[in-house]
Amino acid sequence: MFEIKPYPEFSWSLSRHKALMECPRKYAYEYYISHNGWLRDSNILAKDAYRFKKMTNLEILFGSAVHDLILSVIGNYLKTGFIPPEAELIQRLRSTLNAAFKDSKGRAQMWSERPNHFQMLHEIYYNGELPQDKVDEIQRRLNVSMGNFLKSKTFTDVKENSNMQFVEAERFRFMFIDGVKIFIVMDFLYRDRNEGKWIIVDWKTGKESFEDRHQLALYALYLQRVLKVKSIEEIVVRNEYLLTGTNKTYQLTDVDLEKVHELFGMSVVQMQRYLDDIITNQPLELNQFPKTNTIKKCGRCNYKELCDMY
Ligand code: SF4
Repeated sequence: MFEIKPYPEFSWSLSRHKALMECPRKYAYEYYISHNGWLRDSNILAKDAYRFKKMTNLEILFGSAVHDLILSVIGNYLKTGFIPPEAELIQRLRSTLNAAFKDSKGRAQMWSERPNHFQMLHEIYYNGELPQDKVDEIQRRLNVSMGNFLKSKTFTDVKENSNMQFVEAERFRFMFIDGVKIFIVMDFLYRDRNEGKWIIVDWKTGKESFEDRHQLALYALYLQRVLKVKSIEEIVVRNEYLLTGTNKTYQLTDVDLEKVHELFGMSVVQMQRYLDDIITNQPLELNQFPKTNTIKKCGRCNYKELCDMY
């Protein structure tokens, strides 16, 4: 039977680490206060935090729509050999964006009651409209990303490399390090049997970031620990930048893995400082999670409304 727990299970991910670095108060809303907010008889704060956790914004929505679509195109291609034309893919993306826009504009009350079933864009919730510069930027991304995906090194390998063996895509996986559960979601993983390599792919719909390498190192760690890949030399990691149509392929080293392991260790210690009880993962009181001093961050934060109240 489904058990209702007073506190969530503690687990670590790179995005959780980033949330804490961004703003401890935001981290509290996202990983603790919103817990159980989906239950009918939860308190109002938990329900509100859960609702705001479900809020999205144009860039995030676009990124997740692209990821979902790529997953579906590759899955379908592997089964049937069919590739939809680029124009159709762009249209499918546009429909996803339009559906979120319509929900945000016309179904705010429904979203408020059932945030799992309706969508709300941050831009519309807080400002009533989508800023024109953002719309133009998303339009630009919409026009180039699917064409770049179809021409990408990875999709070319899927289509043309007979030694390519699909392993998995977008599945929630986890591993344990030092007794802590770590969540991993790899965009795409395949093997080149000819070269004897495992290739981890990450589709990027934003700009390049120095953190990209950290993320890929974490995936490589997963391959070593869980899939028992013996040497780091057998693993190739690739970022596919869908806005520019370029990719970066790295051969990671053991130093990269040590660095990400070190980051994980330091990050867990920082997270535990916000706990009243490490065993049950009971957090400190909300007011013990400081708010960021960087006001600019608040402008794009989903929890702004809550922060003004508490
Ligand atoms: S509104 Fe600002 S202070 Fe409040 S949670 Fe968001 S980023 Fe932190």
